[in-house]
Amino acid sequence: APDREVLTWEGFGDASRELTQQIVDSGWIPDLIVAIARGGLIPAGAIAYAMDVKAIGTMNVEFYSGIGETLEEPQLLPPLMDVSAMDGKRVLVVDDVADSGKTLKMVMDLIDEHGLSLDGSAAVRVEARSVVIYKKPVSIIEPDYVWAYTDKWINFPWSTLPVIKP
Ligand code: 5GP
Repeated sequence: APDREVLTWEGFGDASRELTQQIVDSGWIPDLIVAIARGGLIPAGAIAYAMDVKAIGTMNVEFYSGIGETLEEPQLLPPLMDVSAMDGKRVLVVDDVADSGKTLKMVMDLIDEHGLSLDGSAAVRVEARSVVIYKKPVSIIEPDYVWAYTDKWINFPWSTLPVIKP
């Protein structure tokens, strides 16, 4: 079997607390947390609780169809978040891993492009930062906050067990 990086639920608990500590220590507290679904949902919830941020949105992006099998480009899926909800806010974008980094880059670019369409006044400026549990060496984007580095396929605790079928 190929060598895997295994994140346990307990490891995930530690990662969430340590990432939140990193973010708080950097002196930057988000107004809004945006989870990249589905991989970023559970990390985003844990970080939101750890720093007591109640405003959470999601962006639903699909890229992988299986281990190592990718679509051409990440696809934004409905329901779509209204990006103007981010105007004037510090936004923390959360995902499980920056692997190719294409998913995270797509979301960060989308937020930046929305920012460019605004008049640029301080009242609406969006300041977005990103956090991931893992970053792989091939990633085309450097997330602002990273817990660990690996080049292996990662088993996350929420997606390792078989799907419960009817
Ligand atoms: P990226 O766009 O950075 O290549 O990755 C997009 C998404 O694919 C990640 O948010 C994650 O959900 C999934 N993914 C990428 N690499 C891995 C991995 O090593 N393990 C698992 N379980 N999912 C991954």
